[in-house]
Amino acid sequence: MSNGSGTASGKIRVAVWNEYMDEQKRDTVTCHYPQGLHAVIADFLNREEDISAKASLIGDPEQGLAESVLQNTDVLVWWGHVHHGDVQDNLAQRVIEHVQGGMGIIFLHSAHKSKPFTRLLGTDGYLSWREAEEKCRVWTVAPAHPIAAGIPESFVIEHEEMYSEPFGVPDPKTTVFISWFKGGNVFRSGLTFERGFGKIFYFQPGHETYPNYHNEYVRKVIVNAVRWAKPQLRIGVRDCPRVDPLEW
Ligand code: ZN
Repeated sequence: MSNGSGTASGKIRVAVWNEYMDEQKRDTVTCHYPQGLHAVIADFLNREEDISAKASLIGDPEQGLAESVLQNTDVLVWWGHVHHGDVQDNLAQRVIEHVQGGMGIIFLHSAHKSKPFTRLLGTDGYLSWREAEEKCRVWTVAPAHPIAAGIPESFVIEHEEMYSEPFGVPDPKTTVFISWFKGGNVFRSGLTFERGFGKIFYFQPGHETYPNYHNEYVRKVIVNAVRWAKPQLRIGVRDCPRVDPLEW
């Protein structure tokens, strides 16, 4: 059992997990993310003095989810889309156990269908969507929440993939953001949950063919979320021990 983040420097250790397979190397994506979405996300996180971020890819050993990686990760950031089904069940379970033991996790955009998301929250991750280059306005509905620090009452994203309610998730601990899309749909776009000792944040912006991880407010939300999700307590896998009474 250990407290919080464990680097000698005291920095929050972040792993940015991504697929980064062929479809993310199309011109429509590389024009915004030449080295991949994970590289841009890790780069802006590393500009913060208290954060140390590196990438973890599905092509890495143990799909980027080796025990040694997760043990040295305070907050895991997850971007996935077309390869959700390729993530091995035992590795998804490993992620879940680390979250239950205190590791923070931030699910971005299409990660609502990833195995760790659906299994941690007990859902199929249902929503409806449309790719129509729609204007999106993100409303801050919990302005006192740490994840909303420095975020205005609302901000505009010029183009984003539309995600719509109903969103198939259990009632969140806090709804921090709700997004409106030009086509009329709305979506709870920033939600917090807790499972075991781990903090969970879902954030909708980030379709790969739009440059939205370059948006200053999107970045600020993710930075805030990393700080919020940092473990306060970290333990190993728990079983259910039989215990003697404390007093006879
Ligand atoms: Zn998308």
